Amino acid sequence: MVRCEGVRKSFGTVEVLKGIDLEVQRGEVVCMIGPSGSGKSTMLRCINHLERVDAGRVWVDGEIVGYEQQGNKLYELADKEICRRRTQVGMVFQHFNLFPHKTVLENLVEAPRLALGESKAVASERALGLLDQVGLADKRAAYPRHLSGGQQQRVAIARALCMQPKLMLFDEPTSALDPELVGDVLAVMKDLAANGMTMVVVTHEMGFARDVANWVAFFDGGQIVERGTPEQVLGDPSHDRTKAFLSAVR
Ligand code: ATP
Ligand code: MG
Repeated sequence: MVRCEGVRKSFGTVEVLKGIDLEVQRGEVVCMIGPSGSGKSTMLRCINHLERVDAGRVWVDGEIVGYEQQGNKLYELADKEICRRRTQVGMVFQHFNLFPHKTVLENLVEAPRLALGESKAVASERALGLLDQVGLADKRAAYPRHLSGGQQQRVAIARALCMQPKLMLFDEPTSALDPELVGDVLAVMKDLAANGMTMVVVTHEMGFARDVANWVAFFDGGQIVERGTPEQVLGDPSHDRTKAFLSAVR
């Protein structure tokens, strides 16, 4: 579902991704862990073309992100096509970014109506089903400011799912939450994984990574220093930098 080959990205003179190779099969959950500034968010952003790679390539569901291949030539896609493809990838951020002046239900139906041209009835029906799935059907008419952080994040997840994405990207979805609210959000994500969603998750929640991830990739200094099953990387890391990071976050 996702393939990255030799992905490089610099900001100014600083190279923050130094040749990343990564593969995520359909239905897999990959957790990306690592210290601040190691390039995890930038890698996620390259997967849905919020950042343009300087070198290397990213494929999502067999298509090169941001480009179209004709013969052996690559052509940069028009903005409209980039947007169309981006609708197939759901993204959830640390800060929920809900529309504050819209109700929960209005937040959910906005993108399907505007980007997919769905009718209000069709979009609302799916939205209500998804709100039920994240345990918030009774909050459909509430405004975001009346919800807890954990509830807002679950709305943000439901909103991303409303677009029926092939792939979900999560960037530290629980980092901004009070500890007692983290569990409900992780439970929704676990549920999603159990239902077969392909997910790439940047997280500091090692328990989640251990329980849910098929693979864990440890980033440091713009490279994947170590990767493997959660048992290998979290339970028996072979690299000194992985060991140092894990002892610091535990
Ligand atoms: P954190 O755990 O703190 O979120 P991260 O692993 O997600 O860190 P990135 O956000 O990918 O790290 O950032 C990697 C490096 O790239 C950092 O040094 C950051 O300052 C830099 N960087 C990221 N985005 C930009 C940008 N738009 N312009 C300039 N520098 C950037
Ligand atoms: Mg980050």
